[in-house]
Amino acid sequence: MEFSLAERAGLALLVLASAGVFAWHLYGKLRLILEGKPDRPRTDRLGARLVRFLKEVLLQSRVISGRPVAGLLHAFVFLGFLVFALETIDHFFRPFQIPVKRALLGGWVPYFDALVTAAAVLVSVGIVGLAFRRFVLVKISPDPKSYSSGVVALFILLLMVTYLNGRLAEPVLEKVSWWLHALIIIVFPHLILRSKHFHILMAPVAVFFRTHGLGDYLPLNLDPEQLAAAEEEVTLGLETMADAPWKMRMDFLTCVECRRCTEQCPAWNCEQELNPRGFILAGRVALGKSGPVIGNVISETALGQCTSCGACENICPVGIEHLQVLIGAKRAQALSTGVGMVAADFLKKVETYGNPFSGSKQARRKLIDELRIPIYQKGRTEYLLWLGCVWAYNPDARTSLEAMVKVLNASGVSYGVLENESCSGHHSRRQGEEMQFQTLANENISAFEAHGVKKVIAPCPHCLHTMRREYPTLKDGFGVEVAHHSEFLAELIARGDIKLGKGDGKDKLLTFHDPCYLGRYENTYDAPRQVIAQAGFALRELPRRRERSFCCGGGSAGFAREQQVKKRVDQERKREIAESGAQVLITACPECKMMLNAAVEETKDLAELVADSLETRPT
Ligand code: SF4
Ligand code: SF4
Repeated sequence: MEFSLAERAGLALLVLASAGVFAWHLYGKLRLILEGKPDRPRTDRLGARLVRFLKEVLLQSRVISGRPVAGLLHAFVFLGFLVFALETIDHFFRPFQIPVKRALLGGWVPYFDALVTAAAVLVSVGIVGLAFRRFVLVKISPDPKSYSSGVVALFILLLMVTYLNGRLAEPVLEKVSWWLHALIIIVFPHLILRSKHFHILMAPVAVFFRTHGLGDYLPLNLDPEQLAAAEEEVTLGLETMADAPWKMRMDFLTCVECRRCTEQCPAWNCEQELNPRGFILAGRVALGKSGPVIGNVISETALGQCTSCGACENICPVGIEHLQVLIGAKRAQALSTGVGMVAADFLKKVETYGNPFSGSKQARRKLIDELRIPIYQKGRTEYLLWLGCVWAYNPDARTSLEAMVKVLNASGVSYGVLENESCSGHHSRRQGEEMQFQTLANENISAFEAHGVKKVIAPCPHCLHTMRREYPTLKDGFGVEVAHHSEFLAELIARGDIKLGKGDGKDKLLTFHDPCYLGRYENTYDAPRQVIAQAGFALRELPRRRERSFCCGGGSAGFAREQQVKKRVDQERKREIAESGAQVLITACPECKMMLNAAVEETKDLAELVADSLETRPT
């Protein structure tokens, strides 16, 4: 195919003009990000970041696992685009008779062409499938139709068709087809900048810079002297949009509006106001404007409905950190504005009594004496059994603690409890009360140090997560190993310290509820299931389980406060559990047990199941 001088000059002008306009508009978008406040370190553990990039960006693992069929179609399009990169460059150099492909690939060009042809077919299948899902299967995709998506889909399909046409022995209208292909590529980047398809550029970056774990919060420096001496005003929370750091701004611009987060949100599923996609998109609209975050980005009511379950962030395919927005707004409530907090009563009780049940130290001591639980002895005891507030102060949890004590006695391990324990501070932190969290955490860290504690068994996933992931950020060299009791029970069984098998009720059908902070936050799904299997029970899995588990509603202090909503999250989960047909619900979190009690005939902590199944019962 020959190109005239006028055609070459026209092409060069179009490409240069398009690139210039694109760069200018891109700069406008990037400026919104770069105006953000300094952020936490986001290039640490580079190896882990690169592995995540490989899995989630190049292999599209999150996109596919979130929605397998649509995700696979998306992966076809994405991978096809990567394959097409060199072909596209070659396309624009062809009129100038510069053979880029041949220069780079030499004799491999026919193989590369075959690969690009295969990619073109897969991209066509992918884009037609995605467009069909979006524009025809309206019942599955309830969003209003996005016309920019329709134009993008049409453009991509035309790109593939014109490419495949060029591969024919006798292409139809070859020159017209070539120009159509080129013009679409020239226009396409501008469409990307002006639509949700901006994620094509930003998602890989957002995924790379994402925090390593869910709800990975950095402690605020609350030292009064350092705060007073700080040259710039210290941000204590996300009070206004000016407080938003650059990654949060990037997140607002990167959202692909897929609605996965909202579909997973327990509050949204209970017809409450909270809508994770809604507040991310509201953040996009608010970028560059002044004004408070609460009210403009998320309402006070919606913020109070969040259980911090992490389902939204966990499923997001483009690395958006919803939890940083939520904790930022809650910190602003607690530390700056001082109004609108839903758990003020909870926090007051923790401040006064060290626990949210208003329990006294004497009551805890009485329980320890009655159950004959050993006290942790420095240098002599191996494991610290952490009671946490629910096991220590809620009378309904006594059977769970009793069972755990029986199992530990039967195992012969050396264990004990602290004479005094403070709340781990988990919920205080989720309410934005960083000062209370740090006070409680430092008390516990000092107690661990004073007693020489090296290994902790925690029955509560909230305490587990906070002690395992958050205490080390407060104290350099915090070297305490924290295990969840399900992990410890599985270990006792594996090393033969306890034997299971006996016990009644083996004919009963069991189901298991994955706690958010054990599953999504700590990635522990198998240990409790192994214990249930070892105890000889059949397990009927719930429809929403493991990574997709549905919150019990107890998070963010929900287990210990009134909730002013039409439908509570625990009601929805109880419905699902009851419909499973199981007679017994096994929980692995004292708060879940409180919330889900009475969903079916019996609700038991995992420790109770193990105690009931012990072959060698303690004397
Ligand atoms: S953390 Fe859970 S409750 Fe909160 S917004 Fe996300 S999905 Fe909804
Ligand atoms: S925040 Fe993530 S999961 Fe939610 S709509 Fe945006 S891209 Fe989808």
